[in-house]
Amino acid sequence: MPIATEVLVVGLGAMGSCTLAALARRGVDAIGIDRFAPPHTEGSSHGASRIIREAYYEDPAYVPLVREAYTEWARLAVESGRPLLHQTGGLCYGPPDGVLVQGALTSARAHDVAHELLDAREMTRRFPAHRLPAHYMGVLERRAGWLDPEQCLAAALEVAARHGATVRTHETVLAWEPSAQGVRVTTDVATYEAERVVLSAGMWMGTLVPSLNARLTVQRNVLYWFASAPPVFDATRFPVFLGELAPDLLWYGFPDVGAGVKVAMHQHGPTCTPETVDRTVHEDEIAAMRARLAVWIPEANGPLRRTAVCTYTNTRDGHFVIDTHPASDRCWIVSPCSGHGFKFASAIGARVAALVSGDASAPLPDLFRLDRLDRP
Ligand SMILES: Cc1cc2nc3c(=O)[nH]c(=O)nc-3n(C[C@H](O)[C@H](O)[C@H](O)COP(=O)(O)OP(=O)(O)OC[C@H]3O[C@@H](n4cnc5c(N)ncnc54)[C@H](O)[C@@H]3O)c2cc1C
Repeated sequence: MPIATEVLVVGLGAMGSCTLAALARRGVDAIGIDRFAPPHTEGSSHGASRIIREAYYEDPAYVPLVREAYTEWARLAVESGRPLLHQTGGLCYGPPDGVLVQGALTSARAHDVAHELLDAREMTRRFPAHRLPAHYMGVLERRAGWLDPEQCLAAALEVAARHGATVRTHETVLAWEPSAQGVRVTTDVATYEAERVVLSAGMWMGTLVPSLNARLTVQRNVLYWFASAPPVFDATRFPVFLGELAPDLLWYGFPDVGAGVKVAMHQHGPTCTPETVDRTVHEDEIAAMRARLAVWIPEANGPLRRTAVCTYTNTRDGHFVIDTHPASDRCWIVSPCSGHGFKFASAIGARVAALVSGDASAPLPDLFRLDRLDRP
């Protein structure tokens, strides 16, 4: 006998856990299923910190959504009693005509985001760990900072359960199909009849929606923590940053909050699949990161404390896919976020929960529509 529910959420990473919490808060009968036990290190939502920022260089359309996300993270922090958001300020630096500085300024000006435009001399005075070319500029925003992804997922799942949602871990969804009641979902443990289903399976989306395989690319990315020389790496002198080292070469980093300075490249790893992702960090990769540190942040080039491998699920334009499935408007695709989705998860969860419940008062930006990826 299938287990009946109103909404089944498949995958409880950033997107699924926040969607489940938001559904449960609305009083929807919801079940969330994950093949592992989130928070875990197999997908895209681990590694101790995720940047949140408002002067969004990728597109001004994200600014209202990130503002909503700040509100939703604060709400989740209060409900769960967990520390989720740490506001350090955030610096986006690069050549004055580069994608980061131009993009951040465009969003800041379009949406009145409080910011300062700094030249290289002023950035070096305030943030002495950075060594920057004399012509570089930086956009500093005070509200930026970092979210603790493990705490965020734990908080969302706790709140979901407290409001009546069922969380099922170590259970893998094998298939789904439209049915008379809505959607029939088969796992390695049970069969479900759901009125609607949310697929938030991260890099595994292609196993559940094979037509996405041609539109999504899984990319391996590495996180590095280096022992630092305090105090230049505390949050006041080393806020979260994104830097443009060269055209199409972006990196980012976090202050030392105890585990070392964390740095990583953005959109800069080999393509892989969930099955082939290489979880080993190799000596040549570490050497390449050290070479960058030696030039750009030499005092962070200390002993390597830790590494982690994580995956981006990328679209070709770098924007998200959050839309209904072409074959069934009872099935929502909520996941592929091109390596910058975490900060939005609280707001995406709230909006998807509303839409799935028939409340269309806060739609998602057209930028996230699936059919845009079919256009040449
Ligand atoms: C290295 C790195 C750095 C990043 N930095 C930032 C940042 O600074 N700021 C930012 O905003 N974003 C950042 N991102 C992006 C952000 O972390 C991701 O967009 C987000 O975490 C993706 O969440 P998700 O829920 O889509 O995927 P995941 O967290 O991977 O969750 C998918 C879940 O689905 C489950 N699942 C899969 N298949 C099945 C199945 N068949 N049955 C049951 N369960 C299944 C998995 O077990 C997993 O728990 C970063 C990403 C990476 C990898």
